[in-house]
Amino acid sequence: MVSLAKKLKRIWFSFDSLDDKVFFLTVTVAIFVSIVVYISDIVEGLPLSAQLAVLVILAFMVLFLFLGIRYPARRGLLRVCLVMVLNFAMFPASYFYSGGIHSGMILFFLVGLFLVPVMLRGKASIVLFLLSLLHMIVMIDLSQYRPQLVTQMTLEQHFQDVKVTMVISGAGLYVITVLILGAYDQERRRNRELMASLHDLSIKDALSGLYNRRELYRRLELMYTHGETAERKNTLVREGHYIAMFDIDDFKAINDTYGHDVGDDVLREVSSCLENGLDAQKGEIAARYGGEEFVCILSSGSMDEAASRVESCRKQVSGLIWEKNPSLHVTISGGIVSCMDEDDLGKAMKEADKLLYQAKVSGKNRICRKY
Ligand code: GH3
Ligand code: MG
Ligand code: MG
Repeated sequence: MVSLAKKLKRIWFSFDSLDDKVFFLTVTVAIFVSIVVYISDIVEGLPLSAQLAVLVILAFMVLFLFLGIRYPARRGLLRVCLVMVLNFAMFPASYFYSGGIHSGMILFFLVGLFLVPVMLRGKASIVLFLLSLLHMIVMIDLSQYRPQLVTQMTLEQHFQDVKVTMVISGAGLYVITVLILGAYDQERRRNRELMASLHDLSIKDALSGLYNRRELYRRLELMYTHGETAERKNTLVREGHYIAMFDIDDFKAINDTYGHDVGDDVLREVSSCLENGLDAQKGEIAARYGGEEFVCILSSGSMDEAASRVESCRKQVSGLIWEKNPSLHVTISGGIVSCMDEDDLGKAMKEADKLLYQAKVSGKNRICRKY
């Protein structure tokens, strides 16, 4: 019993798309219903032709199930065949054997029509939907004008039949709707996650995890966008913001001495030192500007405060202990400018670069500021 449940579970998960799942579900339910109907036909003593018709349908369903499991690539064709067997043979035949218009088969007709767009796409869906609908209407007409074709049932049997079809079709529609909405929710969740990770990839640097140069410029440009009416607003946006540019000292030598992998570790460690001291809520960010160059946007009450924060970053990097390479000593140089002092983004970056250069030529492992 347990292994049968496991087998069914495995089969269920092998039908991974929604239309395949509905195919599997429909065939399984049809097999179950056919067996129940066959037994009740025998018990009720219905004509042999009725019993044979049910057996033929049962054989078709078992065949569909077998082929669907055995040949996954052919499931598209099998879905078309299943819709045709259901809507052109199984439901119409059951309609005549169950007492025609007074039976509950009209509910199955509706389920049959609903299954078409769920299992099929494109032209096949439209054509088979219209043909199924036409066929069902013709069957209803036929039962009206040729009543001798309809198996006569008692009122009691009609009520029983309506109740049974109501339960089966209601449960079927419920399960299919749950499946459709579940698949839709899953797809939306997957898309949202995908969009979020794509967005993350587009704004972050893969090695350091910091923002990339593009995102840095997008944020800086927002601060610096000038316009007649926006000028005052942008001045306010820039107020209290500082641009700090950093460069790792003698990084080429680090790579040459300890290898590229250690160089990458150094980039990651320096990145976290820069990032740790920032407050994202205030719009502060750290970005990888180039190979071993970084830029931070800081928000501080004064240049003194901003410069002292940058200075403590420099000290933190200089104080790092490299357990795997105890002889390694990493330092950074930097330059810091106030966004309020520089009214043009290009000029501000040039000024920060100039100050960084000044820090390099005056001995490295230091931060230079303009005022
Ligand atoms: P200075 O103190 O004047 O800045 O000297 P420097 O050696 O740090 O500067 P230089 O421009 O001569 O060398 C930068 C080196 O950074 C060269 C390049 O191979 C290395 N680099 C750039 N990107 C990466 C990276 O992603 N990983 C590693 N390991 N090295 C990188
Ligand atoms: Mg450099
Ligand atoms: Mg360098």
